[in-house]
This record gives sequence, structure tokens and C-alpha cells, in this order.
Amino acid sequence: AAKRDGGNRVRVFDRRLGDQVRARQQAEDDLRAALGTDQFVVHYQPIVALDDQRVTGAEALARWQRPGHGLTPPQEFIPLAEETGMIVPLGRHVLSSACTRAAGWQSAGRPLGVTVNVSTRQLADTGFAADVTALLASTGLDPHLLTIEVTESVWADEAAMRVLTGIRETGVRVALDDFGTGYSSLSYLQRYPFDVIKIDKSFTWSLEDPRTGGVVRCIIDLAGAFGATTVAEGVETVEQADWLRAAGCGYAQGFLYGRPSAVQDEWTATGTRP
Ligand code: C2E
Ligand code: MG
Ligand code: MG
Ligand code: MG
Repeated sequence: AAKRDGGNRVRVFDRRLGDQVRARQQAEDDLRAALGTDQFVVHYQPIVALDDQRVTGAEALARWQRPGHGLTPPQEFIPLAEETGMIVPLGRHVLSSACTRAAGWQSAGRPLGVTVNVSTRQLADTGFAADVTALLASTGLDPHLLTIEVTESVWADEAAMRVLTGIRETGVRVALDDFGTGYSSLSYLQRYPFDVIKIDKSFTWSLEDPRTGGVVRCIIDLAGAFGATTVAEGVETVEQADWLRAAGCGYAQGFLYGRPSAVQDEWTATGTRP
């Protein structure tokens, strides 16, 4: 009996594994088919200055309108896009949409910044720097209004870092996202200039823990020492915003101010939070 059960378990396991392999293959096929269609949309989430609550910019966040699956969040397709290299065309689309949108705000008299997530895989692509330059030229967007958001894992790739450094020299800003959650090394901060450190949601959500509070104060000081600013992510409560403001954090982003959304008429028009 034991043997028969064991056999069944193996078959159940096999079947589940088969399902997973098929689902992944299907997602990959769907993703490839979606490139060049209008299935990828970009949502924008406001970033506000903590001192006066004014919207100063927005982060571009990719969404996939996958047929039969609804609006699919990035965790469900960005990793796959990175593994398969499809992040290169997909990322180009996000960057192009974001520059076009921000150039629209700029010409409407609302020069808001736009922050775009860029994978190391994209920076390693030989055309990336030229794409950025061409987009800035064709849209007329002020380079200082574009921020490229990377994670500290990019430091491990010297070629990617050279590309990023070159782009920064044209006036584009660089933000370090999820800082302190990966393999941070202070020596990299010395070696590679940056403009913004983003404080991870996991820190924002446990500021009342004295150790977390200490770490966050330390990150804010560290950014200051390098002439950079800080943006706290995941700000959901007034208490979190008050704590961060008192600690000297410059900017905040989170559901307290606005969720990522396709429509931004309210805060782009008035400059106040929605
Ligand atoms: P991220 O760069 O750390 O972006 C911030 C994430 O936090 C976004 O999730 C945003 O919706 C979420 N968030 C912001 N405020 C709050 C809050 O107050 N509460 C909660 N619970 N969440 C909040 P999202 O849009 O699901 O994106 C997840 C990740 O996917 C991003 O994390 C980024 O790493 C990646 N991603 C998104 N768009 C792109 C893209 O175009 N290219 C690349 N390479 N990665 C992208
Ligand atoms: Mg981000
Ligand atoms: Mg990011
Ligand atoms: Mg983050």
C-alpha cells in the first residue's frame, strides 16, 4: 500500500510539474505575441515632496492586459521577460511611453519627473544608450526629468554600469531602488554616482521597530552625504509620512497619495495630491 501511495504521489507531482511547464510556455508564447500589440500599458504613480505634499513626479509601472487573464501585474511577467530577453523590446516600449507622457506634462506647463524601471539586461543591450538619447531628442523631454531606476544588483555588471554612467552624464538621473534589501556595498556607492535612493516598502512598513527606524535614518544620512535625495516607497499612513518627514526623507510614494493608474488628470493638472 505504501508503495502504491508513493507511486500516486509521484504521478500527482509529475502532473503538477507538467501543468507548470505548460503554463510557463503558454505565458512565454502569449508574451511574445503581445509584443508589438497594445497589450502593454503603463500606469503612473505620483511621487510627492514630503515638506509640502506637492506632486513632483511619477513612477512608470508596466501592466499587461493579457487576453483571458485581465490586468496582469509585473511580478507575473517581468521575470519571464528578463529570462527570455523580451525585456529589451518591452522595456523600450515602457521607456518610450514614459518619455512621451512626461514630455506632454512638460509642454502643458507641468514639468514633472518620470521614473522608469530598467533591468540590467536592458542596460547590457548595446542599443540602450542610443535609444535613450533618441527618445529625449524626439520627445523634447528635459533629460533632468527622466530618472532611471535600477536595483543594486546592477553593480555586479561592469558593462551595464558603464552604460548607466554614460547616460547619467547626459543629465538623466539614476535612482537605486529597494536599497538595502540586496547585496549593498558602500564601496559601490563611492564608485558609481547616483541621484536618488528609494527606501524599500518593507522598511516603510516597520518604522516603529527601533532597528528599522535606525536603518532608515542611516539610509537618509547616507544619501545626504552623497548629495542624493530619498524617496520612501509604500507610504500608506499619515504616521509613516510624518515619521519620514521628521527624519529628513525628501519624497514619498504610496497608496496614501495615489495608486498606480492609467489616468493622472487630477494630479498633473493641479499639482496637489489626489
Ligand atoms: P518597484 O520598482 O519597487 O515599484 C514599486 C512597487 O510598489 C509597485 O508595484 C507599486 O505599485 C507598489 N507600491 C507603491 N506604493 C505602494 C503602497 O503604498 N502599498 C503597496 N502595497 N504597494 C505599493 P508594481 O507596480 O506591482 O511593480 C512591482 C515591481 O515590478 C516594481 O517594483 C519593479 O521592480 C517591477 N516593474 C514594474 N514595471 C517595470 C518595468 O517597466 N520594467 C521593469 N524592468 N520592471 C518593472
Ligand atoms: Mg520602482
Ligand atoms: Mg524598481
Ligand atoms: Mg522598490
